[in-house]
Amino acid sequence: MAQSVVSEPIDMGTEVRPSVPGQAPKKPTKAFNSFQIAQTQFDKVAEYLGLDPATRDLLRYPLREFHFAIPVRMDDGSVKVFRGFRVQHNDARGPGKGGIRFHPQETIDTVRALSMWMTWKCAVVDIPLGGAKGGVICDPHNLSLREQEQICRGWVRQVARNVGPLTDVPAPDVMTNSQHMLWILDEFEQIHGGRYPGFITGKPVGMGGSLGRTEATGYGVVFTLREALKELGIRPEDTTASVQGFGNVAQYAIELYQRLGGRVIAVSCWDQADQCSYTYRKLAGIDLNQILSITDHFGGINKQKAKDLGYELLPGEAWLEQDVEILIPAAMENQITGDNVDKISPRVRIIAEGANGPTTPEADTQIKERGILLIPDFLANAGGVTCSYFEQVQSNMNYFWEKDEVLGKLDLKMTSAYFAVSELSRREKLSMRDAAYAIAIGRVAKACHDRGWV
Ligand code: NAD
Repeated sequence: MAQSVVSEPIDMGTEVRPSVPGQAPKKPTKAFNSFQIAQTQFDKVAEYLGLDPATRDLLRYPLREFHFAIPVRMDDGSVKVFRGFRVQHNDARGPGKGGIRFHPQETIDTVRALSMWMTWKCAVVDIPLGGAKGGVICDPHNLSLREQEQICRGWVRQVARNVGPLTDVPAPDVMTNSQHMLWILDEFEQIHGGRYPGFITGKPVGMGGSLGRTEATGYGVVFTLREALKELGIRPEDTTASVQGFGNVAQYAIELYQRLGGRVIAVSCWDQADQCSYTYRKLAGIDLNQILSITDHFGGINKQKAKDLGYELLPGEAWLEQDVEILIPAAMENQITGDNVDKISPRVRIIAEGANGPTTPEADTQIKERGILLIPDFLANAGGVTCSYFEQVQSNMNYFWEKDEVLGKLDLKMTSAYFAVSELSRREKLSMRDAAYAIAIGRVAKACHDRGWV
């Protein structure tokens, strides 16, 4: 007889942030709650913008939340009930947009915070989309492909009437990929009868995916970095950089930065065997193709082979202490903190946040005081969602652009967004982060007013 197993209940309290896919979850060093952080950031800018109480009340919380159970018949015949979410923070500027995460430590507050950040990210690059995020509490490492397929299909069955190409468009995120998205799309199309390729982004190229999506986030980071260097009157070829992470974002950021003439002298990544991170340094500049040839698909570098190739092996945090002009955190959240911010070299002029939330508020204040130009995460790494928007447009038209066209349009969007933020930051003497928030929140508040919601 089938046995019913109920998965872990939803933890609404202290949060354990998910780790990078393929790695063991990290223990939290400090209790914190992403949603409270997101609300605090919002409150500060709402005050600066002088938003009225109703608008604040509307934007501090998601518009809609769906919490549901997904019963799955497991391969051994038992039934396990997984918990799923979709949070739609705001859709005043267009359909919600945001990934679906699979993680054993997923919490509703993380999903809420991420959905809010998606609203600001889409608004700051001025794409006509709102913010949403979804998740399932599960660990794909312990699930067969068939079980994962059942979770995907079960997830969309629960929200099929509340999501869609004109309402809310999901995408891959932590531990989900294009295969998961195709299962979700297929189930949605079975339910609604018809073909709705604009419902999902992150599809494989040839199945409605966009060329350039793989490169988009890393390249987007460098498009903004290039503009920051121009503003500071620094030539890329006169700079060096140190990068945390060596996954999708980092690899493409390094590739484009080096094409501009810059030299990356250090990269750090997680070592699965030793359960810690290392920094790999070559002062003459890393050889990207050479390191890629000794890197696994989780962005982990083979340390013995790296040593054989002449790379110095340093502690994980050493990436932050390098004597370089540019730092690119492109691994995970809360990496530059009050405890290590003073290790940043006086030579550093720019920090381009490839990762989401790599800098804690305490470190942020000190970075601002030191006059380092910080390109905030939801601007610097918005290339991914911008390209997802392009994918949606191409899917809806059923006409696909060449890669150069996609990347050209991406450059234009990222560069204009950078200029708008930088101009406001100079004019109002705001940090780049506060300026980016002011633009994004201002745009969303205006859309809510124009619609007559508040
Ligand atoms: P990825 O899984 O491809 O790579 C992550 C890299 O970080 C790996 O090289 C891993 O070894 C490294 N890493 C993990 N823990 C580390 C640690 N403690 N110290 C040093 N390195 C560590 O991930 P990704 O897609 O490149 O994403 C990186 C960051 O960018 C994440 O914060 C993600 O949310 C954010 N981001 C990604 C995209 C995208 O399109 N991929 C878009 C927006 C934001």
